[in-house]
Amino acid sequence: MDVIEAVQIRKRYGDVEAVDGIDLVVTEGEIVAVLGPNGAGKTTTIELLLGLRLPTSGTVRVFGQPPDRPAVRGRVGAMLQDTAVPEGLTVAEAVRLVGRYYPYRLPVDDVLTRAELTDKRRARVGELSGGQLQRLSFGLAIAGDPDVLFLDEPTVALDVEGRRAFWEQVRGFASLGKTILFSTHYLAEADAVADRVLVIHRGRLIQDGPPAALKALVAARTIRVATDLPLDDLRAIAGVDQVAADVDRTAPAGLQYVTVRSSRPEEVVAQISIAGCRLHDLTVEDTDLEAAFVRLTHEGTSA
Ligand code: ATP
Repeated sequence: MDVIEAVQIRKRYGDVEAVDGIDLVVTEGEIVAVLGPNGAGKTTTIELLLGLRLPTSGTVRVFGQPPDRPAVRGRVGAMLQDTAVPEGLTVAEAVRLVGRYYPYRLPVDDVLTRAELTDKRRARVGELSGGQLQRLSFGLAIAGDPDVLFLDEPTVALDVEGRRAFWEQVRGFASLGKTILFSTHYLAEADAVADRVLVIHRGRLIQDGPPAALKALVAARTIRVATDLPLDDLRAIAGVDQVAADVDRTAPAGLQYVTVRSSRPEEVVAQISIAGCRLHDLTVEDTDLEAAFVRLTHEGTSA
């Protein structure tokens, strides 16, 4: 079943086309990551899908209806970047209060467990640390037991351990059959958490597929090696995409460290050997999603 459907949505702010014609369908139970550089249009897209802003043109449907309908709002939870909670409330009171706006709700204890705030239930919101506030924001997003959850850069205030724990809770919530769409700058998170990754650049969707497809799109691996083969000769090897001198590393006499990008690293290494050149301290690394994304963005820019 389609939970979210957006057709050619656009949002213009003055001269800025923040969202520039995005089509999107998210089906029940999917976990979708939205990636993109600063200002790409991720937040605006989420706001349009939530019905917090009206598109300049195009349509959004959530559960088949406009997203600002009460029947839809009762099934949607959101963790936005600027959630303001009255500082005088206790954590448990805030969860209870938000839950009241929903037709169904999770028990407060369950929310506190899922947000890892059980020991803070009586603390005032104003006393919470940045990471605890972030977790409270997650708790408030799930308080109404929503069927679909939007998370806009949910892990910005969390440290590495906090992020790991946070995604574990999100996965736990997703396992209840929920649909989740989140934006992030941490591409490793999208790779680890999402079934599907959308890459937004300058308000447009430039990639939509499983994380593996995004990686496969730029399957190049990175070879690092010290060699005496000149850079131009390296560039001439079939299958080499990019070559750069690695000037930060000191190589043994007569050699220089180079970084070579290629989707056929074995052949490249074989060619260096066939040329009778030396290979020292060779490593080959997979391209992570971050590198794939940087490349996609770059291609989007130059297109
Ligand atoms: P970030 O990763 O930095 O949060 P983003 O991908 O979420 O960025 P948006 O916040 O959606 O991007 O912004 C997209 C573009 O629209 C930017 O150029 C931004 O300056 C502009 N923009 C966003 N909100 C407004 C607004 N209320 N008024 C005017 N321009 C806006």
